[in-house]
Amino acid sequence: MWTKANLIGAHPALDFLNTVADTGKTRDVNLLLSPGDFLSWLEFCGLDSEILVDPIPTHEELADLVRFREIAYQALVSTLEESKQESRNLPRYECYLKSALQRATFCVREQHFTWRASNEPGHHILDSIVLQFYDLLQSTDVARIRQCERCSWLFINSGRGRGRRWCNMATCGNRHKVEAHRERKTKPPKPAPPA
Ligand SMILES: [Zn+2]
Repeated sequence: MWTKANLIGAHPALDFLNTVADTGKTRDVNLLLSPGDFLSWLEFCGLDSEILVDPIPTHEELADLVRFREIAYQALVSTLEESKQESRNLPRYECYLKSALQRATFCVREQHFTWRASNEPGHHILDSIVLQFYDLLQSTDVARIRQCERCSWLFINSGRGRGRRWCNMATCGNRHKVEAHRERKTKPPKPAPPA
């Protein structure tokens, strides 16, 4: 189900936001439909060693995760659009971050200070995901987050200048090329200059 294309975000928080399959800016084609989908995603991202899934998440917990995903998406995208109006999801996003941090433990991992999510069964999974977003917010990569010009996927732009325009050249980049080609072909030819 998951392929390397699902890891183009270059950060687990962005890869989590990219668990939708819409080809445009809508976010209706959810790829996390069952706890099994989420478990396989965790495993594919290599987060399964960090996020304990015993007992496996319930459908309600999964619904919470998806709800948080969309709140985080709206909050993040509003910062990219530089709109003067703050996303109405910002206070809700803040609430998730504060609650996860309040329950977390401060620790040292790989010579860095970090937060370890609460082990409480009802909170552990969601808090672990939320803390991935806190990690992203703390990193310098946050200034390089870009959105694909065609779909809603987000990624860290590692190129210089304008850099990447699409999440993936093979999907969105290709769709753009095909459409641009079709547009050129259907355009009426320019009138010949007067003799
Ligand atoms: Zn895309």
